[in-house]
Amino acid sequence: QLHNTIQELKGNIRVFCRIRPFLPRERKKSEEIESVFHYPDSHSLEPRELLLKGPTVESSLGHVHDKNYFFSFDRVFSPEATNESVFQEITHLVQSAIDGYNVSIFAYGQTGSGKSYTMLSNDGMVTRAVKQIFEYIELLKEKGWNYKLQGQFLEIYNEKIYDLLDKNGLMQQQKHDIHHDERERRTTVDNVRVIDFEDEDMVYKMLGKAAENRFIAATKANERSSRSHTVFTLYIDGWNESMNQVCRGTLNLVDLAGSERLSFSQAEGERLRETQAINKSLSCLGDVIHALGVAAYVSGKGKNHIPYRNSKLTYLLRYALGENAKTLMFVNVSPLKSQIMDTLNSLRFAKKVN
Ligand code: ADP
Repeated sequence: QLHNTIQELKGNIRVFCRIRPFLPRERKKSEEIESVFHYPDSHSLEPRELLLKGPTVESSLGHVHDKNYFFSFDRVFSPEATNESVFQEITHLVQSAIDGYNVSIFAYGQTGSGKSYTMLSNDGMVTRAVKQIFEYIELLKEKGWNYKLQGQFLEIYNEKIYDLLDKNGLMQQQKHDIHHDERERRTTVDNVRVIDFEDEDMVYKMLGKAAENRFIAATKANERSSRSHTVFTLYIDGWNESMNQVCRGTLNLVDLAGSERLSFSQAEGERLRETQAINKSLSCLGDVIHALGVAAYVSGKGKNHIPYRNSKLTYLLRYALGENAKTLMFVNVSPLKSQIMDTLNSLRFAKKVN
Protein backbone atom coordinates (compact mmCIF):
# COMPACT_ATOMS: atom_id res chain seq x y z
CA GLN A 1 0.00 0.00 0.00
CA LEU A 2 2.74 2.44 0.96
CA HIS A 3 4.57 1.53 -2.22
CA ASN A 4 1.44 2.32 -4.25
CA THR A 5 1.10 5.69 -2.61
CA ILE A 6 4.68 6.53 -3.39
CA GLN A 7 4.18 5.52 -7.01
CA GLU A 8 1.14 7.78 -7.24
CA LEU A 9 3.00 10.70 -5.75
CA LYS A 10 5.72 10.34 -8.31
CA GLY A 11 3.35 10.56 -11.24
CA ASN A 12 4.09 8.76 -14.46
CA ILE A 13 7.86 9.00 -14.40
CA ARG A 14 10.12 6.02 -13.89
CA VAL A 15 13.89 5.67 -13.89
CA PHE A 16 15.73 2.43 -14.62
CA CYS A 17 19.48 2.17 -14.21
CA ARG A 18 21.39 -0.26 -16.45
CA ILE A 19 25.03 -1.18 -15.86
CA ARG A 20 26.81 -2.40 -18.94
CA PRO A 21 29.28 -5.29 -18.70
CA PHE A 22 33.01 -4.95 -19.27
CA LEU A 23 33.79 -5.28 -22.96
CA PRO A 24 36.19 -7.99 -24.16
CA ARG A 25 38.86 -5.40 -24.96
CA GLU A 26 38.56 -3.87 -21.50
CA ARG A 27 38.99 -7.30 -19.94
CA LYS A 28 42.07 -7.94 -22.00
CA LYS A 29 43.73 -4.73 -20.93
CA SER A 30 43.87 -5.60 -17.30
CA GLU A 31 44.07 -8.91 -15.45
CA GLU A 32 42.24 -7.61 -12.46
CA ILE A 33 39.13 -5.83 -13.51
CA GLU A 34 36.74 -4.77 -10.83
CA SER A 35 33.42 -3.00 -11.28
CA VAL A 36 32.85 0.30 -9.49
CA PHE A 37 29.42 -1.07 -8.52
CA HIS A 38 27.78 -3.35 -6.07
CA TYR A 39 24.53 -4.24 -7.79
CA PRO A 40 21.56 -6.57 -7.34
CA ASP A 41 22.57 -10.25 -7.87
CA SER A 42 26.20 -9.57 -7.09
CA HIS A 43 25.96 -8.33 -3.53
CA SER A 44 22.48 -9.26 -2.39
CA LEU A 45 21.12 -5.78 -2.89
CA GLU A 46 17.44 -5.31 -3.70
CA PRO A 47 16.48 -4.99 -7.39
CA ARG A 48 16.13 -1.24 -6.86
CA GLU A 49 19.45 -0.63 -5.15
CA LEU A 50 22.88 0.33 -6.30
CA LEU A 51 26.13 1.10 -4.53
CA LEU A 52 28.90 3.05 -6.24
CA LYS A 53 32.26 2.47 -4.67
CA GLY A 54 33.51 6.00 -4.96
CA PRO A 55 36.95 7.41 -5.38
CA THR A 56 39.28 7.14 -2.38
CA VAL A 57 39.29 10.39 -0.44
CA GLU A 58 41.69 11.80 2.09
CA SER A 59 40.25 13.49 5.16
CA SER A 60 41.68 16.65 6.66
CA LEU A 61 43.46 14.46 9.22
CA GLY A 62 45.16 12.56 6.46
CA HIS A 63 43.08 9.39 6.81
CA VAL A 64 42.40 7.67 3.53
CA HIS A 65 39.02 5.99 3.09
CA ASP A 66 36.64 4.84 0.39
CA LYS A 67 33.59 6.94 -0.17
CA ASN A 68 30.50 4.98 -1.13
CA TYR A 69 27.39 6.36 -2.77
CA PHE A 70 24.06 4.62 -2.41
CA PHE A 71 21.30 5.05 -4.99
CA SER A 72 17.89 3.58 -5.51
CA PHE A 73 15.83 3.70 -8.69
CA ASP A 74 12.65 2.03 -9.90
CA ARG A 75 14.84 -0.80 -11.13
CA VAL A 76 18.54 -1.55 -11.43
CA PHE A 77 19.73 -3.93 -14.18
CA SER A 78 22.97 -5.73 -13.57
CA PRO A 79 25.55 -6.28 -16.37
CA GLU A 80 24.15 -9.77 -16.93
CA ALA A 81 20.70 -8.45 -17.88
CA THR A 82 19.85 -9.07 -21.53
CA ASN A 83 17.86 -6.75 -23.77
CA GLU A 84 15.13 -9.36 -23.61
CA SER A 85 14.87 -9.19 -19.82
CA VAL A 86 15.06 -5.39 -19.86
CA PHE A 87 12.25 -5.23 -22.41
CA GLN A 88 10.07 -7.41 -20.16
CA GLU A 89 9.93 -4.48 -17.76
CA ILE A 90 8.73 -2.00 -20.36
CA THR A 91 6.12 -4.00 -22.28
CA HIS A 92 3.35 -2.38 -20.25
CA LEU A 93 4.57 1.05 -21.38
CA VAL A 94 4.50 0.01 -25.02
CA GLN A 95 1.02 -1.30 -24.34
CA SER A 96 0.02 2.11 -22.99
CA ALA A 97 1.02 3.72 -26.29
CA ILE A 98 -1.40 1.36 -28.07
CA ASP A 99 -4.02 2.29 -25.48
CA GLY A 100 -3.74 5.96 -26.41
CA TYR A 101 -1.09 7.40 -24.13
CA ASN A 102 1.84 9.58 -25.10
CA VAL A 103 4.79 7.45 -24.06
CA SER A 104 8.45 8.34 -24.18
CA ILE A 105 11.48 6.29 -23.33
CA PHE A 106 14.86 7.98 -23.02
CA ALA A 107 18.39 6.66 -22.72
CA TYR A 108 20.70 8.95 -20.75
CA GLY A 109 24.39 8.41 -20.09
CA GLN A 110 27.90 9.20 -21.19
CA THR A 111 29.20 8.06 -24.58
CA GLY A 112 30.03 4.36 -24.44
CA SER A 113 27.69 3.55 -21.53
CA GLY A 114 25.26 1.44 -23.59
CA LYS A 115 22.52 3.84 -24.71
CA SER A 116 22.46 2.74 -28.34
CA TYR A 117 22.89 -0.90 -27.35
CA THR A 118 19.80 -0.55 -25.18
CA MET A 119 17.68 1.43 -27.62
CA LEU A 120 18.79 0.95 -31.20
CA SER A 121 20.73 -2.30 -31.53
CA ASN A 122 19.12 -5.12 -33.51
CA ASP A 123 17.49 -6.62 -30.47
CA GLY A 124 17.11 -3.35 -28.54
CA MET A 125 14.00 -1.63 -27.23
CA VAL A 126 13.00 0.01 -30.53
CA THR A 127 12.91 -3.26 -32.49
CA ARG A 128 11.18 -5.12 -29.69
CA ALA A 129 8.59 -2.38 -29.19
CA VAL A 130 7.76 -2.34 -32.90
CA LYS A 131 7.36 -6.12 -32.88
CA GLN A 132 5.06 -6.02 -29.89
CA ILE A 133 2.91 -3.28 -31.43
CA PHE A 134 2.43 -5.09 -34.72
CA GLU A 135 1.62 -8.35 -32.96
CA TYR A 136 -0.88 -6.73 -30.66
CA ILE A 137 -2.74 -4.74 -33.30
CA GLU A 138 -3.16 -7.97 -35.29
CA LEU A 139 -5.13 -9.30 -32.33
CA LEU A 140 -7.15 -6.10 -32.03
CA LYS A 141 -8.06 -6.22 -35.70
CA GLU A 142 -10.08 -9.34 -34.92
CA LYS A 143 -12.10 -7.21 -32.51
CA GLY A 144 -12.98 -4.67 -35.17
CA TRP A 145 -10.12 -2.20 -34.68
CA ASN A 146 -8.29 -0.65 -37.62
CA TYR A 147 -4.89 0.95 -37.35
CA LYS A 148 -2.74 3.46 -39.10
CA LEU A 149 0.90 3.41 -38.04
CA GLN A 150 3.28 6.18 -39.02
CA GLY A 151 6.76 7.13 -38.02
CA GLN A 152 9.45 9.77 -38.23
CA PHE A 153 13.06 9.82 -37.16
CA LEU A 154 14.65 13.13 -36.18
CA GLU A 155 18.01 14.26 -34.95
CA ILE A 156 18.60 17.31 -32.75
CA TYR A 157 22.10 18.65 -33.15
CA ASN A 158 23.23 22.03 -31.85
CA GLU A 159 19.62 22.91 -30.99
CA LYS A 160 18.54 22.36 -34.59
CA ILE A 161 16.25 19.68 -35.95
CA TYR A 162 17.34 17.42 -38.81
CA ASP A 163 15.37 14.71 -40.59
CA LEU A 164 17.33 11.46 -40.44
CA LEU A 165 15.35 10.14 -43.40
CA ASP A 166 16.52 12.96 -45.63
CA LYS A 167 20.18 12.51 -46.53
CA ASN A 168 20.60 15.92 -48.16
CA GLY A 169 18.77 17.66 -45.35
CA LEU A 170 21.31 16.30 -42.89
CA MET A 171 24.07 18.22 -44.60
CA GLN A 172 22.17 21.38 -45.24
CA GLN A 173 19.62 22.26 -42.65
CA GLN A 174 16.02 22.70 -43.78
CA LYS A 175 13.38 24.76 -42.06
CA HIS A 176 11.77 22.54 -39.43
CA ASP A 177 9.34 24.58 -37.37
CA ILE A 178 7.50 22.80 -34.58
CA HIS A 179 3.70 23.11 -34.24
CA HIS A 180 1.56 22.01 -31.34
CA ASP A 181 -2.08 21.05 -31.79
CA GLU A 182 -3.57 21.66 -28.33
CA ARG A 183 -6.84 19.87 -29.05
CA GLU A 184 -5.31 16.71 -30.47
CA ARG A 185 -2.23 16.99 -28.26
CA ARG A 186 -0.07 16.20 -31.23
CA THR A 187 3.11 17.79 -32.50
CA THR A 188 3.99 18.27 -36.14
CA VAL A 189 7.28 19.39 -37.60
CA ASP A 190 7.46 21.14 -40.97
CA ASN A 191 9.26 19.42 -43.84
CA VAL A 192 9.93 16.05 -42.27
CA ARG A 193 9.18 12.69 -43.79
CA VAL A 194 6.43 10.82 -42.03
CA ILE A 195 6.35 7.24 -43.28
CA ASP A 196 3.25 5.04 -43.42
CA PHE A 197 4.10 1.61 -42.10
CA GLU A 198 2.18 -1.31 -43.62
CA ASP A 199 4.21 -3.90 -41.79
CA GLU A 200 7.10 -4.41 -39.39
CA ASP A 201 9.69 -4.79 -42.13
CA MET A 202 9.00 -1.26 -43.36
CA VAL A 203 9.99 0.04 -39.92
CA TYR A 204 13.25 -1.90 -39.87
CA LYS A 205 14.04 -0.66 -43.36
CA MET A 206 13.45 2.89 -42.22
CA LEU A 207 15.66 2.42 -39.17
CA GLY A 208 18.41 1.03 -41.40
CA LYS A 209 18.12 3.99 -43.74
CA ALA A 210 18.28 6.44 -40.84
CA ALA A 211 21.37 4.71 -39.41
CA GLU A 212 23.05 4.88 -42.81
CA ASN A 213 22.27 8.58 -43.23
CA ARG A 214 23.46 9.30 -39.72
CA PHE A 215 26.71 7.52 -40.42
CA ILE A 216 27.28 9.61 -43.54
CA ALA A 217 26.56 12.84 -41.67
CA ALA A 218 28.85 11.75 -38.82
CA THR A 219 31.84 11.32 -41.10
CA LYS A 220 31.45 14.95 -42.15
CA ALA A 221 31.16 16.37 -38.65
CA ASN A 222 33.34 14.59 -36.17
CA GLU A 223 31.55 12.85 -33.30
CA ARG A 224 28.22 14.25 -34.40
CA SER A 225 26.41 11.05 -33.54
CA SER A 226 27.45 11.05 -29.88
CA ARG A 227 26.71 14.76 -29.62
CA SER A 228 23.17 14.73 -30.97
CA HIS A 229 19.84 13.37 -29.75
CA THR A 230 17.84 11.01 -31.94
CA VAL A 231 14.09 10.84 -31.59
CA PHE A 232 12.12 8.04 -33.21
CA THR A 233 8.38 8.67 -33.05
CA LEU A 234 5.70 6.14 -33.80
CA TYR A 235 2.13 7.40 -34.20
CA ILE A 236 -0.47 4.75 -33.46
CA ASP A 237 -3.96 5.66 -34.65
CA GLY A 238 -6.73 3.17 -34.03
CA TRP A 239 -10.44 3.40 -34.80
CA ASN A 240 -13.34 1.06 -34.35
CA GLU A 241 -16.39 1.86 -36.45
CA SER A 242 -18.88 -0.42 -34.75
CA MET A 243 -17.92 0.94 -31.34
CA ASN A 244 -17.62 4.48 -32.67
CA GLN A 245 -14.30 4.92 -30.90
CA VAL A 246 -10.88 6.28 -31.72
CA CYS A 247 -7.65 5.76 -29.88
CA ARG A 248 -4.53 7.75 -30.68
CA GLY A 249 -1.22 7.07 -28.99
CA THR A 250 2.40 8.01 -29.55
CA LEU A 251 5.62 6.24 -28.69
CA ASN A 252 8.86 8.24 -28.61
CA LEU A 253 12.16 6.43 -28.29
CA VAL A 254 15.02 8.79 -27.60
CA ASP A 255 18.74 8.12 -27.64
CA LEU A 256 20.19 11.20 -25.93
CA ALA A 257 23.52 12.89 -26.62
CA GLY A 258 26.43 11.73 -24.45
CA SER A 259 26.17 13.28 -21.00
CA GLU A 260 29.91 13.44 -20.34
CA ARG A 261 31.12 16.66 -18.83
CA LEU A 262 32.91 18.52 -21.56
CA SER A 263 35.47 20.99 -20.49
CA PHE A 264 34.66 24.52 -21.62
CA SER A 265 38.25 25.62 -21.29
CA GLN A 266 39.40 23.39 -24.10
CA ALA A 267 36.42 23.94 -26.35
CA GLU A 268 36.20 26.64 -28.92
CA GLY A 269 34.23 27.47 -32.06
CA GLU A 270 31.91 24.70 -33.26
CA ARG A 271 32.93 22.48 -30.39
CA LEU A 272 32.02 25.09 -27.82
CA ARG A 273 28.60 25.60 -29.42
CA GLU A 274 28.00 21.83 -29.38
CA THR A 275 28.99 21.64 -25.73
CA GLN A 276 26.66 24.46 -24.77
CA ALA A 277 23.81 22.95 -26.79
CA ILE A 278 24.14 19.54 -25.14
CA ASN A 279 24.46 20.92 -21.62
CA LYS A 280 21.46 23.15 -22.17
CA SER A 281 19.14 20.52 -23.59
CA LEU A 282 20.03 17.81 -21.08
CA SER A 283 19.66 20.10 -18.11
CA CYS A 284 16.41 21.44 -19.54
CA LEU A 285 15.10 17.88 -19.92
CA GLY A 286 15.99 17.31 -16.28
CA ASP A 287 14.24 20.53 -15.26
CA VAL A 288 11.06 19.62 -17.17
CA ILE A 289 10.85 16.10 -15.76
CA HIS A 290 11.61 17.39 -12.29
CA ALA A 291 8.94 20.08 -12.57
CA LEU A 292 6.41 17.48 -13.75
CA GLY A 293 7.26 15.26 -10.80
CA VAL A 294 6.67 18.16 -8.43
CA ALA A 295 3.45 19.14 -10.25
CA ALA A 296 2.16 15.57 -9.87
CA TYR A 297 1.90 15.83 -6.12
CA VAL A 298 1.25 19.49 -5.64
CA SER A 299 -2.50 20.10 -5.81
CA GLY A 300 -3.72 22.09 -8.77
CA LYS A 301 -1.95 19.99 -11.35
CA GLY A 302 -0.86 21.92 -14.40
CA LYS A 303 -0.58 25.24 -12.59
CA ASN A 304 3.13 24.84 -12.23
CA HIS A 305 5.23 26.34 -14.91
CA ILE A 306 6.86 23.61 -16.98
CA PRO A 307 9.80 25.04 -18.93
CA TYR A 308 9.21 23.17 -22.21
CA ARG A 309 10.29 26.08 -24.33
CA ASN A 310 13.83 26.18 -23.03
CA SER A 311 15.17 23.55 -25.44
CA LYS A 312 14.29 22.03 -28.82
CA LEU A 313 14.07 18.55 -27.32
CA THR A 314 11.53 19.39 -24.63
CA TYR A 315 9.57 21.62 -27.00
CA LEU A 316 9.38 18.80 -29.53
CA LEU A 317 8.36 16.29 -26.86
CA ARG A 318 6.01 18.59 -25.01
CA TYR A 319 2.97 16.29 -25.18
CA ALA A 320 5.08 13.24 -24.46
CA LEU A 321 6.10 14.85 -21.16
CA GLY A 322 3.16 15.78 -19.02
CA GLU A 323 -0.56 15.11 -18.78
CA ASN A 324 -1.69 11.80 -20.24
CA ALA A 325 1.96 10.92 -20.76
CA LYS A 326 4.20 8.21 -19.39
CA THR A 327 7.94 8.65 -19.22
CA LEU A 328 10.75 6.21 -18.64
CA MET A 329 14.39 7.19 -18.39
CA PHE A 330 17.16 4.64 -18.67
CA VAL A 331 20.32 5.84 -17.05
CA ASN A 332 23.09 3.81 -18.65
CA VAL A 333 26.36 3.52 -16.74
CA SER A 334 29.77 1.99 -17.28
CA PRO A 335 31.58 -0.19 -14.71
CA LEU A 336 34.98 1.42 -15.43
CA LYS A 337 36.94 3.17 -12.69
CA SER A 338 38.34 5.65 -15.17
CA GLN A 339 34.81 6.96 -15.83
CA ILE A 340 33.62 7.19 -12.28
CA MET A 341 33.09 10.96 -12.25
CA ASP A 342 30.85 10.89 -15.34
CA THR A 343 29.04 7.90 -13.86
CA LEU A 344 28.41 9.75 -10.62
CA ASN A 345 27.11 12.75 -12.55
CA SER A 346 24.73 10.54 -14.56
CA LEU A 347 23.39 8.91 -11.40
CA ARG A 348 22.86 12.29 -9.77
CA PHE A 349 20.99 13.54 -12.82
CA ALA A 350 18.79 10.43 -12.73
CA LYS A 351 18.16 10.92 -9.02
CA LYS A 352 16.95 14.42 -9.69
CA VAL A 353 14.30 13.26 -12.15
CA ASN A 354 13.28 10.21 -10.10
P1 ADP B 1 26.50 4.71 -26.22
O1 ADP B 1 25.36 4.61 -27.18
O2 ADP B 1 26.06 5.09 -24.84
O3 ADP B 1 27.64 5.57 -26.70
P2 ADP B 1 26.96 1.95 -26.93
O4 ADP B 1 25.57 1.44 -26.86
O5 ADP B 1 27.55 2.21 -28.26
O6 ADP B 1 27.14 3.24 -26.02
O7 ADP B 1 27.86 0.92 -26.08
C1 ADP B 1 29.29 0.97 -26.08
C2 ADP B 1 29.82 -0.43 -26.32
O8 ADP B 1 29.40 -1.31 -25.27
C3 ADP B 1 29.33 -1.05 -27.61
O9 ADP B 1 30.37 -1.82 -28.16
C4 ADP B 1 28.19 -1.95 -27.16
O10 ADP B 1 28.00 -3.04 -28.03
C5 ADP B 1 28.66 -2.41 -25.78
N1 ADP B 1 27.57 -2.67 -24.85
C6 ADP B 1 26.81 -1.74 -24.25
N2 ADP B 1 25.90 -2.29 -23.42
C7 ADP B 1 26.09 -3.63 -23.49
C8 ADP B 1 25.46 -4.76 -22.88
N3 ADP B 1 24.45 -4.61 -22.00
N4 ADP B 1 25.93 -5.99 -23.18
C9 ADP B 1 26.95 -6.14 -24.05
N5 ADP B 1 27.58 -5.12 -24.66
C10 ADP B 1 27.17 -3.87 -24.40
